[in-house]
Amino acid sequence: MFPDIYDPVYVVTIIFFIVGLHRMSHPRTARSGIMWAGGAMAIAVLVTFFYPGMHNLTLIVVGIAIGGSIGWIAAKRVAMTDMPQMVAIYNGMGGGAAGAIAAVELLTSASNGAYSALAVAGAAIGGISISGSVIAFLKLQGWMRQKPITYPGQQPVNIIVLLATIAFGVLVLFPGIAGFNTLLLFFIFAIGYGILMTLPIGGADMPVVISLYNALTGLAVAMDGFSLQNYAMVVAGTLVGAAGSLLTLLMAKAMNRSIGNVLFSAFGAKEEENANITGSMKPVQPEDAAVMLAYANSVIIAPGYGMAVAQAQQKVKELVDLLESKDIPVKFAIHPVAGRMPGHMNVLLAEAGVSYDHLFDRDEINADFPNTDVVLVIGANDVVNPAARREGSALAGMPILDVDKAKNVIVFKRGQGRGFSGIENELFYADNTKMLYGDAKDSVSKIIQELKKL
Ligand code: NDP
Repeated sequence: MFPDIYDPVYVVTIIFFIVGLHRMSHPRTARSGIMWAGGAMAIAVLVTFFYPGMHNLTLIVVGIAIGGSIGWIAAKRVAMTDMPQMVAIYNGMGGGAAGAIAAVELLTSASNGAYSALAVAGAAIGGISISGSVIAFLKLQGWMRQKPITYPGQQPVNIIVLLATIAFGVLVLFPGIAGFNTLLLFFIFAIGYGILMTLPIGGADMPVVISLYNALTGLAVAMDGFSLQNYAMVVAGTLVGAAGSLLTLLMAKAMNRSIGNVLFSAFGAKEEENANITGSMKPVQPEDAAVMLAYANSVIIAPGYGMAVAQAQQKVKELVDLLESKDIPVKFAIHPVAGRMPGHMNVLLAEAGVSYDHLFDRDEINADFPNTDVVLVIGANDVVNPAARREGSALAGMPILDVDKAKNVIVFKRGQGRGFSGIENELFYADNTKMLYGDAKDSVSKIIQELKKL
């Protein structure tokens, strides 16, 4: 009907993808970035209907309708704290789709040298991504043991399965040996490797792993794109691969870990010894916390995952407004891996209307803590654990917010729960720390009430 319309339209969608990705790099423009990229994807899908040799169009429309509806409803319902699982499972679907496209290509096209080799690579990475992402989803959802699952001889077994995947991938390329059975065995090994590789990784490292699988899925799509000679897929896949790789490195750097350490060290498998814990936790009531705040000259809030769980961000903003109306300056200290995904705290605080000039990252604010009267640690734990400064701790080397150096610290948490790493927090036992037990939203509300009376 419109010959070759897809080619120029793909160029437009590629430009849109790049603009979208660029806008996602700042919280202020991130929402519109998602619209640009999403719109581009919708156009790319639509124009693909005009691609030469397209058939089964009704089936494709039914597939899109079912997948699109499930995705729409699930995304509307998902809680912000469950976002990593959702990203894991959607990303896994992307990897699976890339693997399936490569499988069809390998089964239906005559062997075509480099293009077939790329399809095999795409299929392997897609297979590993889908099974690895499913395990990541099960762990994060709590449907599977979160702690690393380890057993003797694990790494040699993993290496053998990886080598078998590569070997069958090569066999798939040989006319005569290639066929349905070889391809099936190849996929069984690739999927098996994704499972085996993810089992020894603990829940705390899962967001990094998801980001890595996301990058791999992008790579698989790009390889499929080369194999199908569809350059919209090549560019979209490369963008996802590059963005996912950078995000993976950024998260690992924020935890001061290498990617190898995240993937192969079974972090969190052993119980931590609490070598440096002396003293006891000292509880404080909201009334006393309010008095401390009323007499403070400077306040810093260090939010973490617990603020997201309690959905306390609106109340926190109310507290900030109240303190500022009393001429008490308030800053937020944002750790890059606070919460469960990069930018988690920024998104929550932006949603509550906290302006960006209140937010300071670790490097900008760490020097301020010694001169700060009161630090409110709201649902943060690992990112403020001084154990990270101690050799031998499992958190050793992780850059933290130096909240323990402030004059007074009030920690908001419900009870004795540990952080995501499972390690006891030495901050809670320090002389200058007081514990305000209870749900963060309730505790902040009570402080607001008390402050209003003062
Ligand atoms: P943590 O997971 O270390 O601690 C959360 C704290 O919140 C717990 O101490 C918990 O204690 C408390 N809490 C939970 N619910 C509530 C509630 N309703 N009200 C009050 N407190 C509550 O969070 P952090 O943000 O400090 O650290 C993030 C962790 O996630 C780090 O280990 C980081 O490495 C990891 N991670 C983060 C990534 C990211 O991109 N953000 C990526 C990869 C890993 P209690 O149960 O007693 O209430």
